[in-house]
This record gives sequence, C-alpha cells and structure tokens, in this order.
Amino acid sequence: MRNKTRVSQHRVAPRKRRTERALKPPAALMHVGAGSDHTPKPAVTWIPSPNFASRNGSAIDTLILHNTDGTLASAIQRFQNPTAQVSAHYIVDRNGGITQMVSDSETAWHSGKKDMNQRSIGIEVVAWVSALGMTNEQEASLIALCKYALDSYSIALDRVFPHRDIKPTKCPGWVWPTDSDFTAWTTGKLGNSA
Ligand SMILES: [Zn+2]
Repeated sequence: MRNKTRVSQHRVAPRKRRTERALKPPAALMHVGAGSDHTPKPAVTWIPSPNFASRNGSAIDTLILHNTDGTLASAIQRFQNPTAQVSAHYIVDRNGGITQMVSDSETAWHSGKKDMNQRSIGIEVVAWVSALGMTNEQEASLIALCKYALDSYSIALDRVFPHRDIKPTKCPGWVWPTDSDFTAWTTGKLGNSA
C-alpha cells in the first residue's frame, strides 16, 4: 500500500527511481533492526549461583530492580555463597557488562518474598554510596535487558517494581532515590517497549 506513490514515480522516471532505491537500504535496515517483534537478549556472561529454586509453575509477570550496594565482585561472591541464600538473575555492572547468575526459568532469591521471587525476574544494578546512579553504558545495558524481559514474558510496565515496594528496604535507593524517580525512569526508558 505504501508503494502506491512510488508506482506512479516508476511510470514517470524509472531510472531516477533506481537511484532512489540504491539510497534506501540503510534506512530500511534500521527499521528492521528496531522491529517490535522480538527484543533480542543482550549478551551476558554466565556465572552460576547455587542459590535458586524451581518456579513451581509460576508464570513470570514481574520485574524487580535492585542496587548491589557494592562492587560487581562482591555481589557475585555473595550470590555464589550457598549460606547467603540470596541471588538475582542478572547483575548490570558500571561498565555495561551483564552477568547472569540464575536462569530465567528458575526462581532467584532477591526480593525477600517467596511468592514474588517465583513470579519475577530480579536485576541488580551495581551502585553504592560512592558510585551513585548509573553510568551511560550501564543504563543502556539495563534498558536493553529490561526490554528483553518485558517483551519475552509480556510483563506490563506497572509490574516493574523497585525492591522497596516488595519489602522494607532502601534498595535500590542508590540508583532511584524515590519512587517518583523510579516511575519516571521506567515510563521514560521502558515505556515504548509494550
Ligand atoms: Zn534489593
């Protein structure tokens, strides 16, 4: 249907049209790359955690965001320690690198509430008191990862929570000090991925 105007151009000046077509591919490719069919999973480095359990049949419908309150290395160490009994699916480092520690299909132990863990994906953002907020690379990776999760599991935007909405904690206050900061970020950065 879009081609109708171009069909008439074809009649008038077929040669010119050929030149136009030669210029088109970059734009066409960009359009395909931003296609809304399926958001690709960003590259991750797998470092498995022993701290996980079955989802017991629960469907994923929730995304919970955290801050590590320490370095990537300290978060990995903690999530690899079986006695700590904590984990998250993903950790997004300040250089933009993404570490995956629990498979999406399993329950990670990040929210402090079993039912919420069973239905959620947990993502940790590396930030602490002297490394506040996100770097540009980190934010880009987090957005890609969140969009992948929202798209893959049909998670609604109003099912993206800061940890402190699930249980009393300041997490993820080093990245989003207030709930309005959090909502502004999810709406602004993830809102077009429905
Ligand atoms: Zn948390």
